[in-house]
Amino acid sequence: MTVEQILAKLVSFPVLGGESNLTIIHWIRDYLNDFGVTSHLLYNEERTKASLHCCIGPDVDGGVILSGHTDVVPVEGQEWTTDPFVLTDKGDGLLYGRGSCDMKGFVACCLAAVPKMQKAALKKPIYFAFSYDEEVGCVAAPELAESLKTYYKGVPKYAIIGEPSLMEPIVGQKGIYILETYVGGSEGHSSRIKQEVSAIHEAARLVMWLESYMDQLIADGRLDQRFHPPHSSIHIGLIQGGIAPNVIANKAHFYWDLRTIPMDSIDAIIKAFEDHCRQREIELRKIYPEFTIKTVENHPIVPHLDTDATLDVVDLITRICGKTKLNTVAYAAEAGHFANAGFQSVICGPGSIAQAHRANEFIAKEELQKGLVMLDNLILELSNNNFN
Ligand SMILES: [Zn+2]
Repeated sequence: MTVEQILAKLVSFPVLGGESNLTIIHWIRDYLNDFGVTSHLLYNEERTKASLHCCIGPDVDGGVILSGHTDVVPVEGQEWTTDPFVLTDKGDGLLYGRGSCDMKGFVACCLAAVPKMQKAALKKPIYFAFSYDEEVGCVAAPELAESLKTYYKGVPKYAIIGEPSLMEPIVGQKGIYILETYVGGSEGHSSRIKQEVSAIHEAARLVMWLESYMDQLIADGRLDQRFHPPHSSIHIGLIQGGIAPNVIANKAHFYWDLRTIPMDSIDAIIKAFEDHCRQREIELRKIYPEFTIKTVENHPIVPHLDTDATLDVVDLITRICGKTKLNTVAYAAEAGHFANAGFQSVICGPGSIAQAHRANEFIAKEELQKGLVMLDNLILELSNNNFN
């Protein structure tokens, strides 16, 4: 099968983040099987979803992981001019379909390269690592990365995460954390605002506290010019509470996200916020003893990526992708999880993130070819006795 035929097949599985991906993962497993490549599936508890990994080449230390995800984002409410789950070639050099760019294009390149990988005399192995639920918070990546460390005799050294980057090497990505904060106050007539504790008023103060905290980080010069914006951001995107203008609200909650540059720690920011909340509880319980503030995570932390330019993986990726300028991205990806598991990690893949998650998503045929060229170059590198 050509890379385009494989991509068409992958796009035809409408697997959204959060849903069962067994159709697509079983198809990939069978495809690999046809080439005699045995893969290993890591199921979730309900056995409705699975990640897949496999090893091509000798089972020795020092190989390269090629990582991709099998899920896509929804198409609902978007104005598609073609069927999003039918890869469509309109003759303009672009292939349209949900996931064509993010990121089944890269997965298709990996699968199309299997025969070449097998024919080559690889001295170090290539691993595939295909996950589920990436689009709902990179849920499966930590387990997948851990499994790759222990499942084989050899331990991989590098990970290339093929998210769309127009084939540019990406060495940095912000950490992301999504939270929900619930404030529990007391209710009463609005005239009693000084005798009761309004959950809305306190939630509003917490929102302002978070904004001030972000501003303080900026004022302290905690900036990393590789990112846009160059500072950690804290943003409250949804706030709810209350029933009427003359009723003091006993409940309010808000949803917020944190996007941190590598020098800032998500844990430290959360701890500062929690310490502040505990202070507010002590204060406001003098008026209403049951006053509470509770913050829970909406999605697990997506750790940042901060790959040092002096690491071997940077050398490797610039040799094989044809571009030398190192870049950073603001989107979430599994790269930080692979880095945390101990693999030198970079993001580099075909297609542009500008086309991802929107109507009429496409990947340029030329980008797919560039993806294949990168894999050809990787195979050459790994066939060299001196590859380290
Ligand atoms: Zn993606």
